Amino acid sequence: MTYNESIVSLPDLRYVEIHCPCGTKVTLDMEKPPSEFNKTHGNFTPKECPGCCKDYDSAIKPAVDGFQRAYRALLAVPKSVTFRGVSSASREGA
Ligand SMILES: [Zn+2]
Repeated sequence: MTYNESIVSLPDLRYVEIHCPCGTKVTLDMEKPPSEFNKTHGNFTPKECPGCCKDYDSAIKPAVDGFQRAYRALLAVPKSVTFRGVSSASREGA
């Protein structure tokens, strides 16, 4: 059995993209230090879509905020940790 594996290093995962049902995609830079506003409010993920001004699904913000916190913690040890991905094609056969 062959696996189509890919090793992803931390800097390659730098951006996270949020897709809204209206078609707007927002790309967030996880490496960027939080702005003063974001530090004060503990915000990384915007609350609402800039395209249609509707709130994102309430599950998105805590999940992406938590992921960014983990990402920034991992940046302290970037050479020690990599991510290993498996393509969706080979996952279907598993
Ligand atoms: Zn939208």
